[in-house]
Amino acid sequence: MFNTLEYEHDFMVTCEIERLDCTSCGTCWDSCPDFFEQNPDDSLSQINEKFRIEGNIGQGDVPADLEDCIKEAVDVCPVQIIHLID
Ligand code: SF4
Repeated sequence: MFNTLEYEHDFMVTCEIERLDCTSCGTCWDSCPDFFEQNPDDSLSQINEKFRIEGNIGQGDVPADLEDCIKEAVDVCPVQIIHLID
């Protein structure tokens, strides 16, 4: 039988932040505060806990309803370190 959950996961887009190159400018969490946030310890951008993949603060699943604002953050990050991977 067709497994809907597995199907959706296979095609989900992943977002990655190259955190070590983040300048803490805040543009991403201003653009998309439901997905990006500032890490309180190192001040760099990280992904909101509920979207992280296996607890990785720099890698997360992109929910459909936040895809547009995450894409905007990708475009406006001044050092271009946010990436979407199909
Ligand atoms: S927009 Fe880019 S440089 Fe600025 S806080 Fe976000 S990830 Fe870091």
